[in-house]
Amino acid sequence: MNEERTLIIIKPDALQRNLLGEIVGRFEQKGLKIIGMKMIQLEDAILAEHYSHHVDKPFFASLKNFMKSSPVVVMALSGLNAISAVRLIVGPTKGYEADAGSIRGDLSLSGQTNIVHASDSSGSAEKEVARFFKSEELFDYKKIDFEFVYGEEERG
Ligand code: ADP
Repeated sequence: MNEERTLIIIKPDALQRNLLGEIVGRFEQKGLKIIGMKMIQLEDAILAEHYSHHVDKPFFASLKNFMKSSPVVVMALSGLNAISAVRLIVGPTKGYEADAGSIRGDLSLSGQTNIVHASDSSGSAEKEVARFFKSEELFDYKKIDFEFVYGEEERG
């Protein structure tokens, strides 16, 4: 198991619907470590970079409008195998197809206003953490639950 960092964006729909605490709580309860967290206002340039795979899609303008419609909360999480574990908790893109128990499955009915972004691979996770956090905004600290969140062999 590898120590990994991954990026979460808690999107405007989650803030407007008072779901911020619920979402942060789900990641905390899983055992993930919050190593960075802040509220920011997204703008065109960073959205074009972050969603570069969608810039030519017909829905890109509405995606940008949505993502700029209020501040968002960005979080960097760390944990063993954190990238795939977080994607499972978040669920697939379309809330109406996501399994119950996942954040999108429980809290979203939409393919666009789907509550959270989560990095989808190790290649994108490192880039995304660096896109939204300066190194001095990321914290390396020991968490006292570490030896109960993971088994002895896994902790190395
Ligand atoms: P994910 O967020 O699950 O990694 P994508 O990278 O494919 O999914 O899409 C990024 C975001 O773009 C989605 O989370 C969603 O908010 C939005 N999006 C994706 N597809 C559509 C669509 N067909 N119409 C509107 N918005 C979309």
